[in-house]
Order: sequence, then structure tokens, then C-alpha cells
Amino acid sequence: MAEAPYDTVLQNFHMADGGPPGWRLALKNGRIAAILPVDPPTSQAGQSLELGGDLLLPGLVDGHMHLDKTLFGLPWTPHAAEPFRMSRIAPDAKLLPSLPLDTAGRAGALIGRCVAHGKAHIRTHADITPIFGLSALEGVLAAREAHRAAATVQIVAFPQAGVMRAGGKPMLDLLDAAIGAGAELVGGIDPCEVDRDPRGQFDGIFAIAEKRGVGVDIHLHEPGELGLFSLLEIRGRVGAHGMAGRATISHGFCLGAIAESKQKAAAEMMASCGVALVTHGAGSATMPPLMLLRRVGVRVFCGNDAVRDTWSPYGNADMLECASVIGWREDLCHDPLILELFSMVTSKDTAALGISDYGIAPGNPAHFFTIAAENIPDAIGAHPPRKRVFHAGRLMAADGIWSDAV
Ligand SMILES: [Zn+2]
Repeated sequence: MAEAPYDTVLQNFHMADGGPPGWRLALKNGRIAAILPVDPPTSQAGQSLELGGDLLLPGLVDGHMHLDKTLFGLPWTPHAAEPFRMSRIAPDAKLLPSLPLDTAGRAGALIGRCVAHGKAHIRTHADITPIFGLSALEGVLAAREAHRAAATVQIVAFPQAGVMRAGGKPMLDLLDAAIGAGAELVGGIDPCEVDRDPRGQFDGIFAIAEKRGVGVDIHLHEPGELGLFSLLEIRGRVGAHGMAGRATISHGFCLGAIAESKQKAAAEMMASCGVALVTHGAGSATMPPLMLLRRVGVRVFCGNDAVRDTWSPYGNADMLECASVIGWREDLCHDPLILELFSMVTSKDTAALGISDYGIAPGNPAHFFTIAAENIPDAIGAHPPRKRVFHAGRLMAADGIWSDAV
């Protein structure tokens, strides 16, 4: 008997770019093999799955998480942190290792929640500090391995407690070791506010990035002109180390707090030197001018940042909800703008994360989800539970619930 041309054929769904209803999606070996018209019917498939007319969308991308800090997997834990950034770091060093569920267990629980929301790709930071050493990274690596069939996870070696203020050379050696252990990017953090030594931090982390051939992703919370100063320093290092297209600024609150003329110049500078921005729509912080950045060619993508962790009790890891909050904050109400938001949590701008073979097209990995929505603006506005989530052609979650048994 001849081998079936497809493992699975999905039918009765609609796609965001329209087309006649009744398209079918044929899967083979974890990839999209073909998008088929409704006629003639294909009978030679391993299984046929009816999707009830739902909207089918590509897997979501979260460009900024902290899987190692989450409290998911544990009973509700009242928030206890002080409001200041540095005052949250020291308590983490005591609290996180004392929890009844280890880093791998908590990170795994959050990955499961991400997948249930239709997420296919995650970039997470993992704390690398003198106290933690590589332990948080090792926990995230274990969670990544345990869930490799359900999502891809990219890890940034993140110096949460600073670089120069956390020891300088020994701290840089730890970051270098983290890349050797499996992290894909070198992180950085507020070189002026935290380290009070921008040259020391940037010289160190960019040297590691160039030596290891990896990208950088730098937390930049510094306000206004101070943050702009750091951004210009980053621009210089990106050029000197040939890292255009492999550098990301996380947050970039400063871009929302400088004069409009400087905003445009900073945006054009970021575009010209290939520095991307990831935003999470921070509560009380100033928002970078997302649409201005995009108009001049900066790649802008979105991330959840803290999700029910020691830094914030809020969040559920849903990128459609994240996009909805950012759209609400930025007053992005017209459909074309909401479609741009969708681009920031899916394909176009998330190419800055180095994701290739992405989207609903023959030959690409079969990462997608279905949702009871008319179109993309409806999906973002209401963000109902994901009906079905597929990763590499396999059903990973249903009705918004992750299950190892699915
Ligand atoms: Zn962060």
C-alpha cells in the first residue's frame, strides 16, 4: 500500500489573508506540506481534523520573558518586593532558591502556559549573578529541554545584578561561561544607573558577543537623556563589533521621554545601525514611540517581561493580551495599526530574533493555533482562549489548556 502523502489534513478553518473558505492545510513530518483548495478532496492522509471554521494564525512570539523568576507552578504567592529595581535583586537571591519548586519546574510551568496561549517561540533572560552563578540558567536549560517539542526557547545570559558592580572580570567570565553552557545571547543592564561604568560593561559584554559570535540584548530602563547617552554608546559598540541586526534594546523607556526631535534622530540611528527594540507596554513607565520607530525601519517586537513572579503579580503570558494592552496604551485603534501590532508578536519584526522559516506557508514548521475570531483585530481585541495549538504539526494544547497528555 502506498504511503499517505500527508500525516494530517486540517480542514474547515479560515486564514487572516482571506481567500475562499474551505482551504485545507496538509502536514507532513512536522512541516506544512501544502495549502490545498477544497476541491478535489484529498483522502490519502493519516488523519483528518475538523477545525470548526476557526481562524488559523501562526504561532506567537514572545521576545522578552524571565522564565527563571516566575512563580507559576506554585500556589498564589503575595507580592512582597520593594518598588525599586535594585531593592528587588537581593531578596530574589534568597527567595528563589528557597521555593518548594525549583527553577526548571517553575520555568516549565510557565512554558506550558505560553504554549496554551499559542506561543511557538520565546526569548527569555536567565539571571547570571555572583550568587546564582549558572544555576538559574541550568534550570531554564532543563525546562527548555523538557519542552523542546512544544516551543523553541532562546536564552539571554542576563547580568541582573550588574556587571562592573557585581565584580567586573569574574562576572564577565560567568557571562562567557553561560554562553558556553547554552545561552544564545549576552545580556546587559543599565550601564550608568546600575554599574556607573558604561565603558566597562559595554567593552566587556560586546567582547564576549564578538568572541562567541552571538547577539546582545540589553535591558535599558534608564530615563530620558541618561538612557539616550547609553543608547549612543551601544550604537558605537554595535558598529565597532559588526553586530548590526544582532542587537536588541529591551524596554528603551528613555525613547519615550526625550524631545520629539531627538526621538526621530534616535530612531533613525537605531535603524541605520540595526538595533531592534522589544517592548512590553510597561505600566507606569514611558512608552517608546513604537510607530515612529517602525516608520523609520527599526524592528520592534513585543514581550511579556515579568509574568507572575517576584517582580510583578500580573500577567498570564498571552501575547495577544500583551498586544491588546500595548495597542490600548498607544491608542492603536484602526485595523491597519492593529495588524502592525500583530506583526510585532509574530513574523515580520520578530525576524530580529533570528527566527527563520516562519509563518503559514509550505515548507515551514507547522507552528500555529486556531481561535474563534473573525480576523486579527478581533483576535487581539478580545483574545479569547486558543482553541487548538500545534507545534511541529502536533497538537500541544486545546481550549486554552496545556496538557502533557494532549
Ligand atoms: Zn526584563
